[in-house]
Amino acid sequence: MTFNYIDIHSHLNFPDFDKDREDEIEKIQNEKIATIVVGTDYESSSACLELAEKYQNIFACIGQHPGNLDRDSVFDERLEQLADNKNVVAIGECGLDYFRLTPEPSEGNEDRAIATNDLKMIQKTVFEYHIDLALTLDLPLMLHIRSSKGTQDAYNDALDILEHHAKINGEKLRGNAHFFAGDMGVLRRLLSIGFTVSFTGVVTFARDYDEVIKAVPLEMIMAETDAPFVAPIPHRGKRSSPLHIPEVVKKIAEIRDESETVVKKAIIDNTLRMFPAIGESIAQ
Ligand SMILES: [Zn+2]
Repeated sequence: MTFNYIDIHSHLNFPDFDKDREDEIEKIQNEKIATIVVGTDYESSSACLELAEKYQNIFACIGQHPGNLDRDSVFDERLEQLADNKNVVAIGECGLDYFRLTPEPSEGNEDRAIATNDLKMIQKTVFEYHIDLALTLDLPLMLHIRSSKGTQDAYNDALDILEHHAKINGEKLRGNAHFFAGDMGVLRRLLSIGFTVSFTGVVTFARDYDEVIKAVPLEMIMAETDAPFVAPIPHRGKRSSPLHIPEVVKKIAEIRDESETVVKKAIIDNTLRMFPAIGESIAQ
């Protein structure tokens, strides 16, 4: 089985697809589109694996979303067993999400600031577990990193952690920053430890990503839909789907002022290099 496109980050496992999941996957298959379906906790990761075991064009990514963690959260060790499976091609989505943690200026702010720091520590600890698991299983990481508004704080903290592990483990530590929204400095740091970046349908309607999209070397860029979120033009406002991935690839080529054919091929090559288990399954 060969694929025209590979959407490296979708959530076909989410309830948004409960009513018509089978139909949607059939449509995706007919378009020769493959997708990595991404877990955000143990239950949703199990659902990813079920889909990946059932469908040839679906691959699983297993992990705990940092935005789901609270003050009592720990790394869910059941993920270790789940991830040790040939249908799992990456560990995540994992990382740091500071977007909702920023203390708002109000009374009682000191407590809030302490709580924020605690949560950051918990996110970092759980992230470290994902890194260890990826290294143990020799898999890439699918990073979710979201900074607090107007800053690069989560990216900087995540890079401090990743650079430390890169020093010890070299190229064995690898991965992709999903829904990349970092600045040029963050991009340079990620690239220098061999991490790729991917962009969603947002690039079809927001111009904030253009500078970075132009600056990424062609061999370090990938495309995703993050379905059911952020549908690209002309589907904006509707449920997104891996079916929309051609729109994202086309727009990336347009922003870079490069041939769509060249960009499309590079993105497939990059995806198979970062997630070799997809290529192995195609070859079978
Ligand atoms: Zn996601």
